[in-house]
Amino acid sequence: MYKEKNLVVKPKYIQNYRDKYPLISKESIIDFNKIEQGDIINLIDNRGKFIAKGYAGVQNKGSGWTLSYNKNEEINKNFFRNKIQQAIEHRENFYKDTQTTTAFRVFNGEGDGVGGLTIDYFDGFYLVTWYSLGIYKFRDNIIEVLKEIVDYKGIYQKRRFDAKGQYLESQNDFICGKEADAPIIVKENGVNFAIYLDDGAMVGIFLDQRDVRKTIHDKYSNNKTMLNTFSYTGAFSVFSSLGGAKSTTSVDLANRSRAKTTEQFRVNNIDLENQNIIVEDVFNYFKYAVRKKLQFDLVVVDPPSFARSKKHIFSASKDYVKLLKDVIAITSNNGVIVASTNSANFDIKVFKDFIAKAFKELNIKYKIEENFSLPKDFKVNDNFKEGNYLKVLFVRKIV
Ligand code: SAH
Repeated sequence: MYKEKNLVVKPKYIQNYRDKYPLISKESIIDFNKIEQGDIINLIDNRGKFIAKGYAGVQNKGSGWTLSYNKNEEINKNFFRNKIQQAIEHRENFYKDTQTTTAFRVFNGEGDGVGGLTIDYFDGFYLVTWYSLGIYKFRDNIIEVLKEIVDYKGIYQKRRFDAKGQYLESQNDFICGKEADAPIIVKENGVNFAIYLDDGAMVGIFLDQRDVRKTIHDKYSNNKTMLNTFSYTGAFSVFSSLGGAKSTTSVDLANRSRAKTTEQFRVNNIDLENQNIIVEDVFNYFKYAVRKKLQFDLVVVDPPSFARSKKHIFSASKDYVKLLKDVIAITSNNGVIVASTNSANFDIKVFKDFIAKAFKELNIKYKIEENFSLPKDFKVNDNFKEGNYLKVLFVRKIV
């Protein structure tokens, strides 16, 4: 049993919690500083009436998550077992598919009832990510439950505790089972992907873009020239190439991106001849492309929410319009821009406004052809709209 503490919610925040908003903020609570990371807290009103039960865990956003609206529910191993079991049932179809897609999210934080915790599946290996020291206090229970209810090859973890949600460098992210090869090869809709479970914060792929990659492959690549900006390991380029793209160009400023992207092409036996990999700041590349009068039929734009390079600070909420204008300038007539953002600071309506503004300022017409948000395995909590962060629009430039 974990110790429980009562905390009084300030009046103006009470309705939020009654409406089941899951994220606990320290501003909303009297005496938040009297509790410790990982404490179970009962949120009560100033008359002592129970509102919700949660845990304290300071993350980049928020200071904890609610777990239950039943005063008598105990937060113990059984509680976590039920949550994880339900989450696995929700992914039944992913588990059944052992051939074409072997990488997916098993547990998506507050969407599955426990904020601050995610579990991903990579061909029999499980990767548990802890987003605060608070949730990490429940580690033993959660790992035990996982070991009891799933067949696993091995279990790995990432600890992303600090205030900015940064990865905590550790010697070893391996927990138990068999150690994974570096890399292991997983499949996504039949395409291979090299995954490194113990090589820093990121494993090589962002699983939430699966449906977008498939659509690029199936409907938008054949015979096209493709540009992938902020390309990371080149996942979009690989799908585009396999979908029949004449050429792909992947641009990312991280040095590692060249070897990583080459590897992803290689594990799919793609001839590298028409795949260009450019290590550069995309904002410089745009200038180069304009100078050389380059035009692309398909351009993917998937920037981080915030990034600082030597010359630029990019913030999606402030600079997306300008970024789009640069992209529109090097997109062919009737070409398609895949505009993506994972910023939780603005919603799809604002994102559509950014697109409208960019085209309007250039006096060019456009048509939105596809609209994506998170896939089914990234389950969202209906009371936490920010959790539905992914927004992807396929926009055709019409001339
Ligand atoms: N689109 C990728 C994920 C992008 S992650 C995918 O689907 O896998 C963000 C990437 O943007 C990182 O690899 C980072 O190195 C890169 N990046 C950030 N700022 C950049 C800039 N100014 N120019 C080029 N790449 C940048």
